[in-house]
Amino acid sequence: MTITDIDLANLDTKPFFKTQVTNFLEILYSVYPDIFIYFYVIDDTNSYILQDLSNNGGHVFDSISLDVPAIAHFQDLKEITTLFIDNQANAAIFSTDPSEWADYSLLSPIGDSKSILGFLITILPAGMDKDSINLDLFNKVAASIGANSITSGLLEKYKGRSDQLSVMLEVNTHLNIAATKTDFLYEISRFGKYFLKFDRAVLVLHPDETPEYFIIDSIEGDETGLQQGMSYPVFNSLVSRSITTGQYSVLKKSHASQPQGVYRDGDFDDYPYDQVIVFPLAKIKNAPGVLVLESLREYQIKESEITIFEMISQSLGAALTRFSLYERLNNYATIDTLTHLYNLRALRQRFEEELARAARYQNSMVVLFLDMDKFKLINDNYGHLMGDFVLRDTAQIIRETIRTSDIPGRYGGEEFVVIMLNTDAEACMISARRICSAIRDHKFEMNEISVSSKISVGMSEFPRDGETMQDLIQSADAAMYTAKRRGGDQVVKYEKGMVPKSRA
Ligand code: GH3
Ligand code: MG
Ligand code: MG
Repeated sequence: MTITDIDLANLDTKPFFKTQVTNFLEILYSVYPDIFIYFYVIDDTNSYILQDLSNNGGHVFDSISLDVPAIAHFQDLKEITTLFIDNQANAAIFSTDPSEWADYSLLSPIGDSKSILGFLITILPAGMDKDSINLDLFNKVAASIGANSITSGLLEKYKGRSDQLSVMLEVNTHLNIAATKTDFLYEISRFGKYFLKFDRAVLVLHPDETPEYFIIDSIEGDETGLQQGMSYPVFNSLVSRSITTGQYSVLKKSHASQPQGVYRDGDFDDYPYDQVIVFPLAKIKNAPGVLVLESLREYQIKESEITIFEMISQSLGAALTRFSLYERLNNYATIDTLTHLYNLRALRQRFEEELARAARYQNSMVVLFLDMDKFKLINDNYGHLMGDFVLRDTAQIIRETIRTSDIPGRYGGEEFVVIMLNTDAEACMISARRICSAIRDHKFEMNEISVSSKISVGMSEFPRDGETMQDLIQSADAAMYTAKRRGGDQVVKYEKGMVPKSRA
């Protein structure tokens, strides 16, 4: 078993580690409020430590403890670790046995298959559906924590051996707490000038979606000739070469036998810098971007300086990956995965915000409650996949029919809510009827099967039909139920005396 000599257990004293893990955990707990998360860490002596990261009182790191009964509970974890390393497995769900309080635990390795530092252990409480957990998400979080811990741990180990490494450690710590890409460049410039006498630092990204282009992302220093947001084809330039090979490139004007453009083909003549070094953000082909350091004068670069900057660039790459992971997690916390509309949690939050605003400015506001008609029949006759497909397309139709300022969300299974701002019921009647007719007229076609569908809509208005979110939704729901009783496929405005299905 390969166990690295990094003391992850002590890393929680580092501010950046704490920040990162706390950020991740807060999002995970907000998506899955009922889970319990633990750290299982393998230390130098090959023994293991469990840290309780469960959300007691909302302060993730206040509850760190050595949980002795839990250690006993997980005593077969060493075996599982070996299994992960041997099979290069990713996150996996194990049934937790014997136990009354949990049916399953989810194990996500921290680190990669070559050096597993430990596991993020997620306990799913008894009764929780294990399919509701997105394995990939937990896996990525653990891998990201691992990537940063490995670099940091290595650096910590070599701290004090040389000035350069001490500085490097500091750079890395700062990169890990930097909040924006501009902060990254600022840190690199601040520390980097200690090693390399560059005059301008440029961060270039090579996005996954458009691999044939790279984009100037941020600039620190003199901005001659370059602008943020500028994009260039990945073709025959110094930057392109580093992106495609994952190797660093150096260019000295005096040594260049054939002029080669730095950012694009053949722009060497009016290029004001005499020396450029391009560092890829990962040592892989088609690197996710590069760091470009440009100097007005040529000088001799030491091999050790190159090594350090290669490490800094990779740290930077790991930090950027973490950024996009945060973004994905945040999306995951607010967007319904099937329909791509707001999920219930986010819808509620937006609802409260808009309600407060409408009350403050005495604006009116309209709430639509939509429920598909006889939706069970689609599932029963054509299967759940077809049902899912119809739901996805319906969400799309709703989005296309309403105004961009309106807020659509998935309320539950085949129920949607739309919040319409600065408007009244009369004006919204037209949009709501347009939703009904657009769905009625649409052919939902999948695998050469075509089905049709209908929807019933109830409408309530703030403040007339209710002043709280609960009252407004209940009124719209009651109006929707009235629409159903009148045969469906229509819009009904709430009137006093209408009751929701649950009370009918
Ligand atoms: P009506 O509303 O007209 O009274 O009839 P209905 O058949 O639509 O009845 P109801 O609203 O009670 O049932 C909703 C059905 O929608 C039940 C469930 O099987 C199905 N459903 C809920 N969520 C999903 C989903 O995510 N995918 C699929 N395929 N079906 C779903
Ligand atoms: Mg329903
Ligand atoms: Mg229905």
